[in-house]
Amino acid sequence: MPQCLFCSIISREVNATIVYEDDRVVAFNDINPQAPTHVLVVPRRHIATLNDLTEEDDQIVGEVVRRAALIAKSKSVSASGFRTVFNTNREAGQTVFHIHLHLLGGRTLHWPPG
Ligand code: AMP
Ligand code: ZN
Repeated sequence: MPQCLFCSIISREVNATIVYEDDRVVAFNDINPQAPTHVLVVPRRHIATLNDLTEEDDQIVGEVVRRAALIAKSKSVSASGFRTVFNTNREAGQTVFHIHLHLLGGRTLHWPPG
C-alpha cells in the first residue's frame, strides 16, 4: 500500500517520532498534537477502517488497545486519565485510511466531543 502515509511511516520512508514498535504494532507521536500526550498506535498490517475488520483481526486490535494503555502508563497519564479514539470515515473525521488508535492525555479532556 505505497500511497498510505502510515504504511510509509512504518517502513521508515516518512519520518515520525516512533515511541514503540514490535513485529505487529507501531506507535508514533501525532504531528499535530491535540494534548500533551498524543500518540497514534497502528498495526503494521494495512487495514483501512474499522469497517474492514474481520475475525482474523481480533488479536491485532487487542494488541493495539493494550499497547496504548502501556504507552499511557509509560507517559505517566494512566492514573490521571487518557482517551483512546478510533475515527472511522468522513463524518467522524478520519483522514488517514490505515486504522490508528489515538491516545490522548496530559490534560483535562471534555465530553461529549465536538
Ligand atoms: P484521523 O483524523 O483520525 O484519521 O487522524 C489522523 C492523524 O494523523 C491526525 O491527528 C494527524 O495529525 C496525524 N498525522 C497526519 N500526518 C502525520 C504524520 N506525517 N506524522 C504523524 N502524524 C500525522
Ligand atoms: Zn497503510
